[in-house]
Amino acid sequence: MNAYVERVLAETKAKNANEPEFLQTVEEVFKSVEPLLDAHPEYEDACILERMVEPERVVEFRVTWMDDQLKHHVNRGYRVQYNASLGPYKGGLRFDPSVNLSIIKFLGFEQTFKDALTCLPIGGAKGGSDFDPKGKSDGEIMRFCQSFMTELQRHIGQDIDCPAGDIGVGGREVGYLYGQYRRIKGAAEFGALSGKALTTGGSILRPEATGYGAVYYLEEVLKHDGEDIKGKKIAISGYGNVGWGIMKKAAELGAAVTYFAGPDGYIYDPEGVVTEEKLNYILEMRAKDPMHCKPYADKFGATFVPGTKCWGVKDVDIYMPAATQNDVNLEWAKKIAESGVRYYIEVANMPTTNEALEFLKSQKHIIVAPSKAVNACGVSVSELEMAQNAERLYWTAEEVDAQMHKIMKNIYNASVEAAERYGLGYDLVAGANIAGFQKVADAMLAQGIF
Ligand code: GLU
Repeated sequence: MNAYVERVLAETKAKNANEPEFLQTVEEVFKSVEPLLDAHPEYEDACILERMVEPERVVEFRVTWMDDQLKHHVNRGYRVQYNASLGPYKGGLRFDPSVNLSIIKFLGFEQTFKDALTCLPIGGAKGGSDFDPKGKSDGEIMRFCQSFMTELQRHIGQDIDCPAGDIGVGGREVGYLYGQYRRIKGAAEFGALSGKALTTGGSILRPEATGYGAVYYLEEVLKHDGEDIKGKKIAISGYGNVGWGIMKKAAELGAAVTYFAGPDGYIYDPEGVVTEEKLNYILEMRAKDPMHCKPYADKFGATFVPGTKCWGVKDVDIYMPAATQNDVNLEWAKKIAESGVRYYIEVANMPTTNEALEFLKSQKHIIVAPSKAVNACGVSVSELEMAQNAERLYWTAEEVDAQMHKIMKNIYNASVEAAERYGLGYDLVAGANIAGFQKVADAMLAQGIF
């Protein structure tokens, strides 16, 4: 291992021993940028790695809110403003009981390089709360969002930090957050939040963007292999916004998601989730109860397999984990390798443990694509939303979609080129890490020591 990486990793582990997710992403990224560090000794001179493991700012705050029975509750809120050398901090908010500082730091770190890969002027950030939105009434969600924003508003702004959605935060939550922000600031500052409704400065195609972009990236990978997406079968995990976007775009292009997994088990639908009725039902089912996908099988006569994941099924061409972090561990990775499936396209942030990722990359018959490239279209359209807000205009779907295609192609090409430049062959994971890392590191160098 490169001595500089080894030293900084050891120091980071000692300092952040209780942050496993954060350490996982730091190790994954730093190990894969070793060839870049070997070629650029100036990064070590300027303490780039030491600086990259320290977020520019961490904000942690109390969120008190009242439920429908007038009982008070206290949750913890976070905003990690990771790195703004490329533009205002940008990244989502996650509301989920699993949220803690380690998870928000890992997401902020990943977001920094993802946002760099988009080549748009945005820095990296992430935030959220351990609040559990499941089973809460609309009024409870609204009061929680208002209380959360009452504190967060002092740290964000269109030129400072622009939060958006993530797990547990969708259009409704962004609406409540923006409403509170606007009331406190006394100004219609649309660019302070993205993922807003179309009537409130939102961008067309933002809800679809992450899933669509993942499929656009997949098309580039298939093209490289002389393959076409038409007729391809896909297994995914997760059927939230991102999974739904994948289903919709795949159907449009003549492919089909035939397996999808949820918290209660997985669905096998040999015909695929391809009709409008099925796609709409996914949204309805999720809004009603995000913990169960079984109702899909009951409604459409599909197969439901309880209590397990669909990794390892053989009758698909592509796997796309689109649920949450560490969905695929070494055990699942071995099943994936045995299945003979060629394409493993990460979509959720860090869906693969480091040992599973290394194992999958070592399998000659599998092409692995990394989430920070594949899922970058969501934040890209968020940035296009900021651009529309800044010029006080709304773009058409055609305009936004054309940009989405361009951005995803650029990300893919930049990753391929970066890997080739450092003699790594067709390594999309290392290529994306190197391309993103170099952009951030060079901007940090250019702005002097701080
Ligand atoms: N949460 C999304 C992500 O992981 C979107 C962030 C954004 O739109 O700012 O990239």
